[in-house]
Amino acid sequence: MDLTQISPFSDHSPVLDKQNPFESMMHRFDIAAQLLKTEPGVYEYLKTPVRQVIVSIPISMDDGEVKVFEGYRVIHNDILGPGKGGIRFAPDVTLDEVKALAAWMTWKCAVLNIPFGGAKGAVKCDPTRLSPLQIEKITRRYTSALLDFIGPDKDIPAPDMNTNEQVMAWIMDTYSMHMRRTEPAVVTGKPLALGGSLGRREATGRGCMIVTLAAMNKMGLKPQQTSVVVQGFGNVGSTTAHLMADQGCKVIGISDISGAYYSKKGIDLRKASEWVNVNRSLAGFTGGDRLSQEELLELECDVLVPAAKEDQITKRNAGKISAKIICEGANGPTSANADPILLEKGILVIPDILANAGGVTVSYFEWVQNRIGYFWSLERVHKRLGKMMSEAFDNVFETAEKHKVSLRIGAYVVAIDRVSQALKLRGIYA
Ligand code: GLU
Repeated sequence: MDLTQISPFSDHSPVLDKQNPFESMMHRFDIAAQLLKTEPGVYEYLKTPVRQVIVSIPISMDDGEVKVFEGYRVIHNDILGPGKGGIRFAPDVTLDEVKALAAWMTWKCAVLNIPFGGAKGAVKCDPTRLSPLQIEKITRRYTSALLDFIGPDKDIPAPDMNTNEQVMAWIMDTYSMHMRRTEPAVVTGKPLALGGSLGRREATGRGCMIVTLAAMNKMGLKPQQTSVVVQGFGNVGSTTAHLMADQGCKVIGISDISGAYYSKKGIDLRKASEWVNVNRSLAGFTGGDRLSQEELLELECDVLVPAAKEDQITKRNAGKISAKIICEGANGPTSANADPILLEKGILVIPDILANAGGVTVSYFEWVQNRIGYFWSLERVHKRLGKMMSEAFDNVFETAEKHKVSLRIGAYVVAIDRVSQALKLRGIYA
């Protein structure tokens, strides 16, 4: 297949200069809805979040002073099942961003054919300036404020930016205390000792690796001749980098918030991970030449994995990207106005709602294991994740070919089609 022949459908819609994540999401949604000839009522239903909750989180700080934080939980859609999606702690998070992230979860679950709707939560706080005790208090108060809205059959949180297994353990404990019973299935991404799943921690990176290999296969790229650049060295970025290297690829560039590093002969990833374990970031890493964050994204390579945050590839720098494949490890790393530029350049973009869906897929496995009370081997988790990611990739690829659109629009078409069909079968209760 000639990938440059996929028509830039986005040319038909206005491309905005400045975009927030919700606009970026809606832009793609609109194109896919047009292709599917979605009825106006269904369109209206699918674009509107089902519920948006804002809570205040008063905390007594370590010096006794009271500080009030703001928390959010948005359920974008629950047609296919209970809400599902992570919780992030970030100083600059907005309700609008949480709405976009919740909608992405709806489409992500639908692309993977997982029986969940889409949700997302956040607390506006800077975890780097909070003690572990303060983080625990914020988590517990946030959970108790949301008691009426979360639950194994209602909405199931999980980790996201700046939240981890320990935070999930506090959510599970707070919820269980109020319910007067231990309820592991209320949250996923828990520690193994509390009913977490084997393979959940590396699941997002593993999923990125699986779909990238599938895309490389379509392009005739062999791992041994493939160079990889990864932006972000947190859970997703570092796992993807390690797994791609294990496959025989050469990782030539890595970065985190402290800086970017390049080595033509390949970064020693074990050294990089050890560095981060000791120093908490890559700052001062001696295993590569220092680059600016922009230079890292523009490096000549075969595969670029943006696994940091939203809006990294925009109209401004899209023309300078020289990778053949982009695998979106982060949610929303490419703004909608960059899509036509990347398409024009013949870059194959594996969209976030497919590329990083390994995390929520193993979250689904965790929830299933919690509910049946029987735990799977790592081998079984890997096998089922591999199967679901590969099937989703093939389905998106075929849909994109059929409609002559990018993989991103193909993924939205698959997702919107599944959710609209379920909506039509359920009908509108009124
Ligand atoms: N936060 C992850 C995501 O954006 C995981 C969500 C989950 O496991 O529910 O996909």
